[in-house]
Amino acid sequence: MSFPPPRPAPHNGPGTCTRCHQAVIYCLTAENKVTRAVDPERNPNGNQAVHQDHTGRWIARQLDRERPTPEHAEVLHMPHVATCPVPAPRPSRAAAPRQRRGVRPAPWWRR
Ligand SMILES: [Zn+2]
Repeated sequence: MSFPPPRPAPHNGPGTCTRCHQAVIYCLTAENKVTRAVDPERNPNGNQAVHQDHTGRWIARQLDRERPTPEHAEVLHMPHVATCPVPAPRPSRAAAPRQRRGVRPAPWWRR
């Protein structure tokens, strides 16, 4: 008997948003190899330069100051988080403001 993998392999390619069930394309990010959903339509206002690599994987590269325009086969898409009608939870400590800053109780040895 074998154990199931702890989590399914990240989906890559056309799929549906798990929150709003709209069509999205799941892309691997070029920066840190996490999955990011983008809207399926090309959008010149988007900031995700999307292409498929030679194995058919969808890759999304966030435009930045060094490479601000799509290159080669890349086309622009809008990140789905920008258009998803179902608000995402705020899992990221970097994105969410720290709300309880400065209220940590004093350590027991100073009470
Ligand atoms: Zn959505």
